[in-house]
Amino acid sequence: MTNERTGMIRYKLRRKITYALYNHKRRGHKINITIDEAEKLYNSSTVCPICGVEFSDKKRSTTKSFDRKHNKGMLSNRNVWVICYKCNATKQDRTMKEFVNYCRGVVNKFGADHDVSG
Ligand SMILES: [Zn+2]
Repeated sequence: MTNERTGMIRYKLRRKITYALYNHKRRGHKINITIDEAEKLYNSSTVCPICGVEFSDKKRSTTKSFDRKHNKGMLSNRNVWVICYKCNATKQDRTMKEFVNYCRGVVNKFGADHDVSG
């Protein structure tokens, strides 16, 4: 990759992070993470911690997205993780406890004993 191309990728990522932080701030959330910290977290994440999918930009569902672990907490290095787009879209504003309970509900209804083909 040329320096120009890596520079553009980095520029786009930092712009995306800046926009995400700005949006959270605008909605009244406290921010305690810098763009550098968020960029480092983003770049060091290789696998979705929820579903285990390897991140890839080839499909939207496997792209990286920032998520707050506790939705009421501030945006900080400890409260932010990178999960895949699909998990984020499914989890939405649920806490992990609510999300796990939701998944349990799905398993209870459509789990091992149920035909989920098709
Ligand atoms: Zn995932």
